[in-house]
Amino acid sequence: MPSVLIKRNKEHRLLSGHPWVYRGEIQRVSGDAADGDEVEIRDHRERFLGRGLINRQSQITVRRFTTDKEPLDRAFFERRLRDALARRGDLGAHAACRVVCSEGDQLPGLIVDRYADHVVYQALTLGIERRKTMVEELLREVLQPRAIVERSDQATRKLEGLEPAAGVRYGETTGIVRVCLAGTTFEAHLLEDQKTGLYLDQAENYQLVGAAASGRRVLDCFSCQGGFSLAAARAGAVSVEAIESSETALARAQTNTEINAVQERVVFTAGNAFDLLKRYQAEKREYDLIVLDPPSFTRNRQSVPGALRGYKEINLRALKMLGRGGLLATFTCSHHITAELFREVVVAAAGDARRSLRLVRSLRQAADHPILPAVPETEYLKPGVIYCESTRGTGGGDSHACHPGTG
Ligand code: SAH
Repeated sequence: MPSVLIKRNKEHRLLSGHPWVYRGEIQRVSGDAADGDEVEIRDHRERFLGRGLINRQSQITVRRFTTDKEPLDRAFFERRLRDALARRGDLGAHAACRVVCSEGDQLPGLIVDRYADHVVYQALTLGIERRKTMVEELLREVLQPRAIVERSDQATRKLEGLEPAAGVRYGETTGIVRVCLAGTTFEAHLLEDQKTGLYLDQAENYQLVGAAASGRRVLDCFSCQGGFSLAAARAGAVSVEAIESSETALARAQTNTEINAVQERVVFTAGNAFDLLKRYQAEKREYDLIVLDPPSFTRNRQSVPGALRGYKEINLRALKMLGRGGLLATFTCSHHITAELFREVVVAAAGDARRSLRLVRSLRQAADHPILPAVPETEYLKPGVIYCESTRGTGGGDSHACHPGTG
């Protein structure tokens, strides 16, 4: 078998459990390995470090699948798929769930989501691209879906030298499926919408934020298909307003409120959340729970300062509109914004807004998106995702001074 020799002193990440080999860490490739092929990974003294799939077109040139001396054949992929499925427990017939989460399930480059009787997969790397027929066969055998949809239309495929690929790969389907996510019913559009249809990584947070929404006036910014709004309305929020710039997402959200019979309690506004937050603040509107779940504001390191200004602005305006004891559920999914940076931004916004913050709960990505401590990249949503209780500070000349235990 061809093997990839790692340069001296470049083996530490692999030894600590991280599965990637960068181009610059490779001393040489011995044997005849075509891109997409299985290779052995060895340190400079030829000691075995595992087996993976190679793609010289990618900066991440080898992704390790195993640290054992086992072939990466069909039986291997089947074992990994069944293990991942077993970790999810009982899914229920109508549930939506991530069944395979790439590195998080030791199948780098493969995402598999189940939406009731449909399966959607993404091949993010050349290694998986070359094994698509086998992957589809295994998905049919192990998950027995009515239809399989491919959504390998991620921009990151370019980094692997791949073009986008999407479509129905098995069975007949419109790609529109009703699923149950954390108790709420959604109509998912598997062939068209963001990711594979829904933001499955936020599912548990819909429930947690929803539970906190009872009796509160809620503002859900960047609401997309309405996950937080629906959960809040179902849990007994007094009122729910949702802001979203995409007309398609708003149409989906509207349908979802009807399916869940909460259409009377959710008001959608199409528009730019930055403009609307500014206007609402000028109008002195007040809310008891505000959700901020924006898209990533960064494309690269250079855009970090601008992104930080953006996060500060929306968090500041939201905090200013929170009534006493109000709650702020705030997120960042920006790859380049660390948890620490995000915390600093929210704290700075709170300072300017003259609010003091108390962390009520940290909100994480859903458990079906496993985090490997040795692989920080598996943590998509930042742990700095905070959930704060806002009390008015004493410096603002405000009549509601901060009393511990109130609000
Ligand atoms: N909270 C959502 C996911 C939000 S993703 C959920 O859990 O389903 C971010 C959303 O912000 C996208 O739907 C995108 O269309 C929307 N968006 C992007 N820029 C925006 C802006 N400036 N104003 C309002 N919405 C925006």
